[in-house]
Amino acid sequence: MSFNELGLTPALLRAVREQGYHAPTAIQAAALPPALAGRDVLALAQTGSGKTAAFALPLLQRLIASPPRPGPRVLVLAPTRELAAQTAELLRELAALLLHRPKVALAFGGVSINPQLMALRGGCDVMVATPGRLLDLLEHNGLQLAGVQCLVLDEADRLLSQGFAEELQRVLALLPAQRQSLLFSATFPPAVQVLAEQLLRDPVRITI
Ligand code: AMP
Repeated sequence: MSFNELGLTPALLRAVREQGYHAPTAIQAAALPPALAGRDVLALAQTGSGKTAAFALPLLQRLIASPPRPGPRVLVLAPTRELAAQTAELLRELAALLLHRPKVALAFGGVSINPQLMALRGGCDVMVATPGRLLDLLEHNGLQLAGVQCLVLDEADRLLSQGFAEELQRVLALLPAQRQSLLFSATFPPAVQVLAEQLLRDPVRITI
């Protein structure tokens, strides 16, 4: 299997080469075609499987095709600061090679909110955040979510086990119903199954 067969644009194929990826991992080969086609995806995949690029590449490709607007069009929720930062870094590296370079914003708790509010003033295309800090930013009128076209829950099992269930529900209530949703989880306990039922519409199910 080659990245050329998965439906990526030339700019993203170049970005993939620059990352040093020669061939897609199993999760990338399975998730890219349906995600690029706009389908919801439910993926059981571990850290180390290449799952970040499996959602980052289709997100960026879909962004290229949709008109810009002031608020984020893509929202990625992650359970920890480290995971959010790693995801934002890969998105920024991949986006750097695109013509109209999408702006990727990052926010997590445990640090002052002010620099994050300042960084959002110029708007962003992709918001990567932990759920609690995202709600803080919304309360400070730092961003609005009405334009979100695509939602990613990364490590959904950890999002729930770390006590983010209530925050998650509050965020979900603010998102447009008409959107694409991608849910990645390393395990599939009942709480994640319930969340997947609530969140996903006719998802493509992938187990790696
Ligand atoms: P992740 O599961 O997203 O945390 O990725 C784990 C590691 O795999 C990261 O260091 C990536 O740079 C690397 N990686 C992701 N996709 C590929 C690929 N197609 N080929 C080689 N390495 C990859």
